[in-house]
Amino acid sequence: MKFERMFSPGKIGNMAVKNRLIVPPMLTEYAAEDGKLTERYIRYYEEKAKGGWGLIICEDNSVDPHGGGFKNVAGLWDDAFMAMHEELTDRVHKYGAKIAVQVYHAGRESDSSITGVKPVAPSAIPDPTERETPHELTINEIKVLTEEFAQAIYRAKNAGYDAAELHGAHGYLINQFVSPFSNKRTDEYGGNIMNRLRFPLEIITRSQELAGDDFPIIYRISADEMVEGGLTIEDTKVIAQMLEEAGIAALHVSAGVYKSGAIVSAPSAAKTAPFSDYALQIRKLLKIPVFTVDKIVYPYVAESLLKEGKADFIAMGRASIADPELPNKVREGRMEEILPCIGCWQGCQGKIAEQEPVSCLVNPRTGKENTHTVIKTDEKKKIMVIGGGPAGMEAAIVAAKRGHDVTIYDKADRLGGQWLLAAVPPGKEMLNSFTVWQKGELARNGVRIELNCEVTPALVDLEHPDEIIYAAGATPVVPPIPGADGYNVCTANDILSGKRDLTGDAVVIGGGLVGAETAEHIAVHNHMVTIVEMLPEIAAEMPDAPKVFLMESLERNKVAMYTNTKVLKITEKGVTVETADGTKDIPAGMVVMAIGSRPNKSLADALSEKYRVTIVGDADKVGKALDGIMNAYDTALAI
Ligand code: SF4
Repeated sequence: MKFERMFSPGKIGNMAVKNRLIVPPMLTEYAAEDGKLTERYIRYYEEKAKGGWGLIICEDNSVDPHGGGFKNVAGLWDDAFMAMHEELTDRVHKYGAKIAVQVYHAGRESDSSITGVKPVAPSAIPDPTERETPHELTINEIKVLTEEFAQAIYRAKNAGYDAAELHGAHGYLINQFVSPFSNKRTDEYGGNIMNRLRFPLEIITRSQELAGDDFPIIYRISADEMVEGGLTIEDTKVIAQMLEEAGIAALHVSAGVYKSGAIVSAPSAAKTAPFSDYALQIRKLLKIPVFTVDKIVYPYVAESLLKEGKADFIAMGRASIADPELPNKVREGRMEEILPCIGCWQGCQGKIAEQEPVSCLVNPRTGKENTHTVIKTDEKKKIMVIGGGPAGMEAAIVAAKRGHDVTIYDKADRLGGQWLLAAVPPGKEMLNSFTVWQKGELARNGVRIELNCEVTPALVDLEHPDEIIYAAGATPVVPPIPGADGYNVCTANDILSGKRDLTGDAVVIGGGLVGAETAEHIAVHNHMVTIVEMLPEIAAEMPDAPKVFLMESLERNKVAMYTNTKVLKITEKGVTVETADGTKDIPAGMVVMAIGSRPNKSLADALSEKYRVTIVGDADKVGKALDGIMNAYDTALAI
């Protein structure tokens, strides 16, 4: 595919953009708690400018000291912040990218534990996810906020931003005014669509007075809020036309609010480009450019959306986190080098949900651009990496890039380890794209690969490495339940690897992530499945959005789920469990163990008597792939 559309220049108002690729605003939590930008924040955006993106829209900057919905939200409410904003825009402009800033106020999608004050909103109705009843804004307070938005946009212009984006989506304050879901007022800011739109229209008018009507204002909108009583695409079509008449320069079409938030940053199980049809419908009515966003990972999809006329610009958020250099790699035909976002949610949205700075499972350098650069070593070492799962491969890639002599060993006939099994359940196929990238990087960086090779102390003595990185993963645990050694019992790994046929109805013992996804895999292959979990929750460790998709799939596929339930015994006919209501027999042809795993450390312990051994990934501590890969990356950087 030629990427002609993608690399054709575009215009947003009077702002010329060198290509059609946009980094949309995504909170990073790299700003300081007082709203100031940090070097980490600037460096993160600078990296994207260097990578070839046409327009970078920086994350939500609050217009008011109490306007943030998170702890470390950047601010544009104070002239004291200007120097760092100027530094940011200067550094981004050096690479020919344009830079905009999103201005926002969280309104009722915040709470007093974050801001120290009661949240505000058009009406005193709590957000269903935040639950704190907000203060209903008076007319005078609305006027103050209008001025704050306009002043923030004026500061943005003075700081060298090429445009500003008003965050009118995702249930934040502006969206709260526009939507009947959250606005129940009966004064001039409520009731009909003209009144509900008054707040953003007054912001736009006042901003144009201050910054000039040639300073481009982009408006981000939720085309469909996907909540009962909320805005639908038909409402949004009208709103879009009114905003265009008011003089906005472009419309950035997203969807959803906090209550419907699983789709806002769609996980791997969601369909590709889920909001592009909304963008198309709106684009047909407007003359200004329209952006589409969400789960657009592959450049081929971006080009196809542009060709089809679904949007004028393509916003690729998480794809830009996974690989800030994506545009340059596409332009230079280095497609296989693009590090793909796998929709896992572990590092980006998952961290934000925990109020922590963003990181990325596939790109451990995210947010550490200053400190985690791979620098060539002066002291070349011979390194054995034992275990070819994602952590082992990551360590091998980084060590080889640093100039070490690296060989990776795995006892299996292919690289990938248990990651390959994690990619088997429905909606998890994107995980394989990371394996393909890692294998490519091993080859591109000259790592020797020894498969079907069980490493022994004798082999290590023969090779006599300077360092060993031990990444042998973990082994599934089989608990001492009576009957666990029966012919009808297997592990989740046996099922996902295809070692065991699917025969009859199944009981999956263990409802963590692996158990729940294995149950889904079995269910979509037309077997009845029951999950038995001792804890009160299924897939408790899973990030929000992927979990919403998984739970919907389990329900759709009629998977029975028992929580707070203990397995007493396994028989040829199934399992006997103890629930809060007493014991119960669940018939099953196959019983699948998904209780967890334990690290494979024994060889590492033996080798560490003679060699310098660093254990990484699950072999060190069974946990999230994000942490294992990060740990492997850091280890290889330090050697
Ligand atoms: Fe994509 Fe996962 Fe990285 Fe987020 S953490 S950008 S979902 S690969």
